[in-house]
Amino acid sequence: MSTSSENRVIGHWIAGAHRASTSGRTAPVYNPATGSVQAEVALADQAEIDEAIAAAEAGFRVWSGFSIAKRQTVLFAFRELLNARKQELAHIITAEHGKVVSDAMGEILRGQEVVELATGFPHLIKGAYSENASTGIDVYSIKQPLGVVGVISPFNFPVMVPLWFAPIAIAAGNAVVLKPSEKDPSAALWLAELWQEAGLPAGVFTVLQGDKLAVDGLLHSPVVQSISFVGSTPIAQYIYETASRNGKRVQALGGAKNHMLVLPDADLDLVADQAVNAGFGAAGERCMAISVVLAVEPVADELIAKVTERIAKLRIGNGAGQDGVEPDMGPLITDVHRDKVSSYVDIAEADGATVVVDGRGFTVPGHEDGFFFGPTLLDHVPTSSKAYTEEIFGPVLSVVRVASYDEGLALINSGEFGNGTAIFTNDGGAARRFQSEVQVGMIGINVPIPVPVAYHSFGGWKKSLFGDAKAYGVHGFDFFTREKAITSRWLDPATHGGINLGFPQN
Ligand code: NAD
Repeated sequence: MSTSSENRVIGHWIAGAHRASTSGRTAPVYNPATGSVQAEVALADQAEIDEAIAAAEAGFRVWSGFSIAKRQTVLFAFRELLNARKQELAHIITAEHGKVVSDAMGEILRGQEVVELATGFPHLIKGAYSENASTGIDVYSIKQPLGVVGVISPFNFPVMVPLWFAPIAIAAGNAVVLKPSEKDPSAALWLAELWQEAGLPAGVFTVLQGDKLAVDGLLHSPVVQSISFVGSTPIAQYIYETASRNGKRVQALGGAKNHMLVLPDADLDLVADQAVNAGFGAAGERCMAISVVLAVEPVADELIAKVTERIAKLRIGNGAGQDGVEPDMGPLITDVHRDKVSSYVDIAEADGATVVVDGRGFTVPGHEDGFFFGPTLLDHVPTSSKAYTEEIFGPVLSVVRVASYDEGLALINSGEFGNGTAIFTNDGGAARRFQSEVQVGMIGINVPIPVPVAYHSFGGWKKSLFGDAKAYGVHGFDFFTREKAITSRWLDPATHGGINLGFPQN
């Protein structure tokens, strides 16, 4: 493993400027396709955390005084800049994350959707007015920003996840401190520069690079009013518990184990295409990836044959392109993660699963040190195996054979996660039953990755979401605003009730 760029340290963005770290602590940032360390990222110390939060507090004081019209101008400018320069950003994502450039572009576009929603924010943060609620009395509500809000994002969507929250929080008048994943920290800085170019005042969008120390700094700061977290379930639970205990609003989205239920009447060619796309896209490093195919017999053998055929045609390589061609799938994020994914295949095999396609030990010629793992297909995976119950987060598709719709549904509902799921069928009645009976937050009917559009909201059930606030959509605006209800009367002799110590009535 080479460390050719030992001197480049990716720092913070504080008070509208790049801020080099003085903490003396760093973590390596890899190029997953080559396995080399391309930079170090700063890990904030307490002084840097305090500085970032103080800058955000100052930014909030300025920004919350901006009129709605001026705030909207900044949002529109940001949208235009992002749209014009997104290709640049896609390459930054690929260089640190490893996903193929077109997939990085897909994540940007899904984030851009939220920016576009946020441009219409005046309609979504306006209050309500009831004239003459009681004689001479009007009641109305206003929605105000929270103040400084914290966003903590995972490695797998270094742009989309920050954009699930930041545009809405900013539109609503808040100042955001983003703590990106230390595995791919550069995209956040690019976004910070873009916000500034769009006219956002200094301090309204801050990037604090770091690890648990930075996260804990946000969780324990009395200035930070809310936490929006996306990441693995154990950390989501920790964030939810700690932030709630400290009196903050919190939305904490966790891990997943998404099942695709295939009924015998489904078109198996279509299903096989979708299973491959949803199982191996972004090398399975998506919280909405399909990781289990529940095949209602007798379809399993035929479906496995079709999926196997398609896997054989997948091109795996450097996400930035190899020999002038973009592959279908890039590497995993680190060698440690690749080895963990590999260990789940070992576990499945030891527990009795059949390894139909084996991605262990996969290498890409010319990129032998890259963190690649081949697409893997498992059959007869026992539901007692950890390979079935735990999130693998890699290009591993497990087939579990079931005898009926009911058996499949019961399996989905017995799992600890409830992020996404999909049913594949041409039977409308079965699909309708499924949407009603399945205990999962986001459901696809012949759609394998049902990530809701920006004007709906994103969030799972059970251990896939802690708290009651989903990401973006109307939920997002509710999360990032605090409502006040005002009861108002202009005293005049006709409606003035004189002395009356009773509880106010209509
Ligand atoms: P992670 O939980 O390891 O890290 C997420 C964030 O938490 C990072 O910023 C990281 O620095 C920080 N963190 C890590 N350990 C911490 C600790 N001990 N204390 C405080 N902070 C800590 O997750 P990841 O590996 O970056 O991302 C992959 C996970 O995210 C998967 O489980 C995936 O399913 C999940 N995810 C969920 C969704 C969703 O919408 N539900 C979306 C994307 C990813």
